[in-house]
Formats: sequence, C-alpha cells, structure tokens
Amino acid sequence: MLLCQVRADSDLRIAANRIEPVQKGERRKVQARLFRKRLVADDVCIVDLRFPAGVRIPFKAGQYLHVLMEGEQPRSFSMANSPKANDGAQLQVRVLPGSIFGERILATMQAGQTVELELPFGDFYLREGALPVVLVAGGTGFAPIQSLLEEALPKYPDRSFTLYWGARHENGLYAMEQIQKWQRRHANFHFVGTVSDGPPPAGCRSGLVHEAVLADHANLTDHQAYVCGAPLMVSACREAFIQTKGLPAANFFADAFVSVNS
Ligand SMILES: Cc1cc2nc3c(=O)[nH]c(=O)nc-3n(C[C@H](O)[C@H](O)[C@H](O)COP(=O)(O)OP(=O)(O)OC[C@H]3O[C@@H](n4cnc5c(N)ncnc54)[C@H](O)[C@@H]3O)c2cc1C
Repeated sequence: MLLCQVRADSDLRIAANRIEPVQKGERRKVQARLFRKRLVADDVCIVDLRFPAGVRIPFKAGQYLHVLMEGEQPRSFSMANSPKANDGAQLQVRVLPGSIFGERILATMQAGQTVELELPFGDFYLREGALPVVLVAGGTGFAPIQSLLEEALPKYPDRSFTLYWGARHENGLYAMEQIQKWQRRHANFHFVGTVSDGPPPAGCRSGLVHEAVLADHANLTDHQAYVCGAPLMVSACREAFIQTKGLPAANFFADAFVSVNS
C-alpha cells in the first residue's frame, strides 16, 4: 500500500522490515521546458524536459517527480534519465483515454512550453551489495528501471542484473534498442521480454511477466527484486516471489503506478 495515499480507520501496529536513514536531499519546484516528445507506442509518449539554464536537481536513479497542475492533484512520473543528466527529466508517460496530463496537457504541449515539477520523491533505488538483481517492469514501469540500469551497469560490472519487461503488445516494449545496447556492453546484464496479448517479437516470450520470473528461478532466496508498474502486477510479484520463491521481504522493492483517480 502507499502510506501517502491511504487513511487508517483504526489504530495500527506497524512492523518495519527495514529502517534506513532518509537523506533529505533538496526537493525543489522548477518550471521545466518541453524539449521534445515522441510517441513510441500506441499509448506511450517519451517526454524530454529541460530545467532552466544552470539548474540541476540531484536525484537517485529510480525516483519520481510530481507534475503540478492548477486545481489538480499532483501526478507522479518516474525519471527515466540517468541521475548524471540532472539538468532535466525524461518521462515515459502512458497516455490514458481521458487523462488530464497524458491526453489533455501533453498532447497539446509544444516545444518550449513549460510545466511545473517538484522532485525528487521515493525510495525505489538500488541497494548496495553483491546479490543478483531481478528487475521487473510492466509497461511504462520501465522508466525508473532505465534510469537505474543506466547508472548501475557501468558502476557494478560484476553484479548480475536480469530485466524482465512485460507489455500487452509487442510495441509496448518500446526501448529494445537501448536494451540491445546494454546486452552488447554488459556481460552480466540479461533480458527477458514478455507479451501477454498477441505474438511476441523474436527472442521474447508469451505470457505474464511475473510468470517468466517464476519459470526461470527455482528460488529467489539470495536475490534482490525491483518491481515497477501496474499495482496488480506489483502485488502478484510480491506475493509470488516472497511466498513461493523465498525472497526475503526486505529484499523486495517496488513502485506501484497507482493512478490518482483510481
Ligand atoms: C510513484 C509513481 C510513479 C509513477 N510513474 C509513472 C511513469 O513513469 N509513467 C506512467 O505512465 N505512469 C506513472 N505513474 C502512474 C501515473 O502517476 C498515473 O497513471 C496518473 O494518474 C497519470 O496522470 P494523468 O493525468 O495522465 O491521468 P489521470 O487524469 O490521472 O487518469 C485518467 C483516467 O484514467 C484512469 N486510469 C488510470 N490508470 C489506468 C489504467 N492503468 N488503466 C485504465 N485506466 C486507468 C483513471 O482512473 C482516470 O479516470 C506513476 C505512479 C506512481 C504512484
């Protein structure tokens, strides 16, 4: 559950799996300028935003930002760019029919126009260590994982990273060139793509993404898992990885892409 979004009906007793110091970086609001937008799948738009000249906002790979719109609740989108490129933000937006930011604002936004952002937020980032890492992305859940891998693959060449990316249709796997680049450059990076409705592209599998992870691993006892995407996919992974594959609960990290209106 997202503690920032739920309200308790009664007193609660809370057991924390892990308590980590929170480094309160500088969270800032900024007017970002649209540099470029590209429709890369039927319903996915990649948006490159630039901060004003000289403005850099540090963040951890995997974190997200708020798009601020007058009279609307903030909308959360993960930064897909590497933290090194912190003079702007790349968003990978699933454009839902009738959506306020995706359809109403983004669709009409022209290069040079601005949008107000606040960042960074979130604790979906890579934990240090040597344990092999399984990353699971559903649709635009690829965005924070792209940022995380861009930073981690060159930094930790001896650590194993396996990315499972699932989409409904082939064109939902919209960053195959990027993935092939990682495959060529990093011996310890592995990729499994899945498509649930329709034929998979060459080298990918049919079915649900979490089922591919389950099929490939007898157990996950000595792994870390990073999962990002639709809430149902995230909870299916949490349950299956911890309960049937022995992943320690403290090694499961996730951002569920909850919609403000759902
Ligand atoms: C931490 C975090 C990070 C996120 N990162 C990303 C990201 O990188 N990319 C991304 O695309 N999204 C991301 N999301 C999800 C995104 O914030 C929400 O989908 C948000 O509501 C989109 O805003 P919008 O204004 O475009 O659509 P809204 O106006 O909020 O929603 C439009 C309508 O679509 C409906 N709707 C919402 N989700 C679905 C769905 N899955 N299927 C069908 N209908 C739906 C809503 O109920 C609503 O009626 C993230 C969410 C969280 C919590």
